[in-house]
Amino acid sequence: AKLQIGKKPSTHPRTTPHHPPPHLIKRRDTLLPIRKALPIWPHAEYIRKSLIKDNVLVLTGETGSGKSTQVPQFLLTEKWCTKCIAITQPRRVAAISLARRVAEEMGSLFGDKSPAAKVGYSVRFDNATGPNTKVKFLTEGMLLQEMLRDPELGQYSAVVVDEVHERSVNVDLILGFLKNLVTEVGKGKRRKDPLRVVIMSATADVEGLVRFFAEGSGNDMKQSATSSMAGDQDDEGLESSWSGISSDGEPDGETNSEQIARNTGASNVSTCFIEGRQYPVKTIYLPEPTQDFIEAALKTVFQIHYKEPLPGDILVFLTGQEVIESLEKLVNEYAKGMDKEVPKLLPLPLFAALPQHAQQLIFAPAPYRTRKVILATNIAETSVTVPGVRYVIDCGKSKIKQFRNRLGLESLLVKSISKSAAIQRKGRAGREAPGQCYRLYTEEGYKGLEERTTPEILRCDLSQSILTMKARGVDDIINFPFLDRPPRESLEKALLQLLHLGALTETGSISEIGRKIAKLPLTPTLGRVLIEAAAPECDCLLEAIDIISTLSVENLLLNLHTEERKEEAEAARRELYKREGDHMTLLTTVQQYVEENSDRKAWCERHFVSHRAMQNVMNIRKQLRQQCTQLKLLHPSAASKPSNSDSTVSPETLAQNVLQCILRGFIANTARLMPDGSYRTFMFNQTVAIHPSSVLFGRKMEAIMFSEFVFTGRAWARGVSAVQMDWVQAVVDQVM
Ligand code: ADP
Repeated sequence: AKLQIGKKPSTHPRTTPHHPPPHLIKRRDTLLPIRKALPIWPHAEYIRKSLIKDNVLVLTGETGSGKSTQVPQFLLTEKWCTKCIAITQPRRVAAISLARRVAEEMGSLFGDKSPAAKVGYSVRFDNATGPNTKVKFLTEGMLLQEMLRDPELGQYSAVVVDEVHERSVNVDLILGFLKNLVTEVGKGKRRKDPLRVVIMSATADVEGLVRFFAEGSGNDMKQSATSSMAGDQDDEGLESSWSGISSDGEPDGETNSEQIARNTGASNVSTCFIEGRQYPVKTIYLPEPTQDFIEAALKTVFQIHYKEPLPGDILVFLTGQEVIESLEKLVNEYAKGMDKEVPKLLPLPLFAALPQHAQQLIFAPAPYRTRKVILATNIAETSVTVPGVRYVIDCGKSKIKQFRNRLGLESLLVKSISKSAAIQRKGRAGREAPGQCYRLYTEEGYKGLEERTTPEILRCDLSQSILTMKARGVDDIINFPFLDRPPRESLEKALLQLLHLGALTETGSISEIGRKIAKLPLTPTLGRVLIEAAAPECDCLLEAIDIISTLSVENLLLNLHTEERKEEAEAARRELYKREGDHMTLLTTVQQYVEENSDRKAWCERHFVSHRAMQNVMNIRKQLRQQCTQLKLLHPSAASKPSNSDSTVSPETLAQNVLQCILRGFIANTARLMPDGSYRTFMFNQTVAIHPSSVLFGRKMEAIMFSEFVFTGRAWARGVSAVQMDWVQAVVDQVM
């Protein structure tokens, strides 16, 4: 390396890459025997060898076998590994907690605290990587963003795609891009060294993945994989390799990685199967179905707590933050009435939006004479391994994204989980000792569940994915290598939506606006709002950022209906209400919070605003301002001002500008008042009602727009503002 004159050498020898502080070394040494006991440990050599021989490795092993934490460390010392290793995660919580754990195991500093940190993470609105980061955990969305800037992923020697069994849309896109990347190497593309790819999954659909990567790779794998399934392969053939993994994911007989490797023969794809460690788990069903799973969960928690000895923590699977927070309250309330002799109960929430420090409590052992009750979304199903759990309570539901083609809207629905999800949840109870799983549904109910969860790509809005693909230079969406091809109808809907947003041109190629939107960590709809707000004639970017930040968190305004002090709450909240609707109300909420200099927490309590969520809003707001500055949408001098600091127009004009910008993105979410008092959407003629949580609930306006659509029995519009018909017409004229 060239000598850099004028650059001071590091004066802190304890934090150079070679000399981490002693307490970190001590911790690393304590953790080593624990790592060595993980089921994956004996496979280290095989995993390393596979990636010398082949560029792709498909690795299966039960959650907790050590895939996410160990694989990057196994690869780090390889000769070919001269650059960084990326490990993708479907959720930010997992990315951050894994990075922290791996840093500890390596005796390294973590994040961007020091140039010596070897482990970092990058999640939406939070990048903690340093110049020496060698292991980088990142969410799938962030890897896709990086691919826009660097299609060849030149900064990485290896990409590890974790949790593939979850089949998020983003994972499917990543797999498609990676397949192209590994098959393109050597065909005149820029990337010189081959990219190593490890695909990791907790369930054993190895066959499909191997075939996917082998097809078109030049190695005649396609044919051999197919013929292996037909069973006409002889001695060294593939048949036995597939039968090595029986359909329930258990290895039969003496199957091990080596044998599978031998059997997969000359392909460019290796496979490895880690035998799991699973104690028996007893299943207990409800005798009768229940409508109220919160109550059923509460009862079961206390039933277990009174009946079963310590140690043994409880993991409760619930649908979302709101339900988790209400059960947390209930457990705390009821626990107050427990006798002194009974051990304590410590409820701990676990959901994606949880701040980092709260997440770490999950991994700490329960205090003396205390039982942890982890109240989690399906994040704890496979993504995060919670130690100490012996009892699982499964409500049988989860919140999933569902695109309703007929409505042209995406919504979050609470739906029954699949059998494979139920089995995963149950398995969480038997990681360390025999356990019990309480299913809050009947055995009949279980039998009626679908076998597998439908991959997200088959049921969600694809506009963001398609925009990502277009920005990444994939013009022929139809021929993109999808693991599961989305229905033509959803592809067309998404293309149309992008056209309406002005992100694509008439010919289907990406526009300048589209390129900017693709670089923002937002849905195309929200991205479009920001672009519009930055235009000189609107000039309300800071306001739009404030509002969009609030739309990016859940449950900012606490639900007044569940509060006893409803009247007081309404009175306090009323000073924030704006007659224009929810969006301007949210803007006022942010502005007043920012203005509050003395005690922001107390301000939140007074106004029944979640302080936790508001802190998230502030963080997102900061990041969006930075990103808009980078994209030259925002002048650097404006990036640190409050949004209401120097407006030159009247409040009425400003509100109109803001709402018209939001409308530009949300044109599909507009509805007009019908003579019978209902609202019908312009585009799909769907009846929607204003949600009771809206400040416009019960009011009649000529037209509304809404930023969220919820379907609970009927179609509700949430986050509603009044708009004028001529504004809607103006946008429609522009897009049609
Ligand atoms: P897999 O990827 O196969 O699910 P992991 O590598 O995530 O397995 O986990 C291996 C083990 O490491 C887990 O059983 C758990 O005990 C431990 N572990 C993982 N993450 C953390 C963490 N953030 N804090 C403490 N322990 C952890």
